[in-house]
Amino acid sequence: MTLAKVLARARAGMDLEREEIITLLETADPEERSQIYETAEALTLYYLGPEVHLRGLVEFSNYCTRNCNYCGLRADNHRLNRYRMTSEEIVAVAEQIELMGLKTIVLQSGEDYWYTLEMMTRIIQEIKQKTNLAITLSLGEREFTELKAWKEVGADRYLLKHETVNPDIFAEIKPDSSYEHRLGILDQLSQLGYQVGSGGMIALPGQSLTDLADDLLFIRTNKIGMAGFGPFIPHGDTPYRGYPSGSGELSLLMLAVARIVLRQVHLPATTALETLLQDGRRRALEVGANVIMPNFTPLEYRKLYEIYPNKAQTSLDEVREVILSLGRIVGTDSGDVLI
Ligand code: SF4
Repeated sequence: MTLAKVLARARAGMDLEREEIITLLETADPEERSQIYETAEALTLYYLGPEVHLRGLVEFSNYCTRNCNYCGLRADNHRLNRYRMTSEEIVAVAEQIELMGLKTIVLQSGEDYWYTLEMMTRIIQEIKQKTNLAITLSLGEREFTELKAWKEVGADRYLLKHETVNPDIFAEIKPDSSYEHRLGILDQLSQLGYQVGSGGMIALPGQSLTDLADDLLFIRTNKIGMAGFGPFIPHGDTPYRGYPSGSGELSLLMLAVARIVLRQVHLPATTALETLLQDGRRRALEVGANVIMPNFTPLEYRKLYEIYPNKAQTSLDEVREVILSLGRIVGTDSGDVLI
């Protein structure tokens, strides 16, 4: 099928087939890529309107018990200085996020069991008491009892990237995780009533465009409401230090194709894309992104949350300026998932 036909079917609201998604991802001609980007932009505005939702990110601990081969936070990286924010610090940042006009806080950490069920419960309760923020958790593979307790005290959303649907690559990149177990947790999160976010990495060693198409189908099939796809960027203190970085252009194409395939799913302009591609955030908004996660981690900790090196930094003012300069608007509600 030609590109024009695939795009016409997408514009008509049809579910694209696997082969059609691969056709989009294989597109290399700049003129044809522009057609994909224009379609993605049109579908973003059609399904989601001009709103861009801001989620205030707090990376509250860089301790992690796991040893993912790509990640600078891996437990065996002894060159990294570790930090943990106190409950008081986390709640104070939440209040600051609300003061700055944002509607959602994203609490993210390595897989750090120092923050127990009870401790996270208290943090969630206190944020809910002191603010009207929606709470997104991104704490890794936690136990069912924990996920249940946190939902019951007010956590709204949970982010757990599936990383890749290729089980062989998953086993390579996350040697101490189980693919089935991780997918099982995504199911549990849905059953518990969380708004669920997932997603993956682009250009992992051995990954094909077919794998990326399957990643998108995974999100669609499982009715996941938020999906982040960012390029793999090697970290010098990990076993993957020698692998090449993902391409910014391919990541941008993946974002556009994600919008075309996933329609009203929330898609962030990832920091990893901004890191690789000049003006990456603006370009991401132009081809399908409708979420940005400004970083509110206190400065003394921020540079230590180093999953990959040289992370891009953008101020809240810059983010707002980019949104408005594109004729978009900053979302004024908490931007709940739409599927
Ligand atoms: S990717 Fe997550 S679970 Fe894996 S080492 Fe990094 S922080 Fe830990």
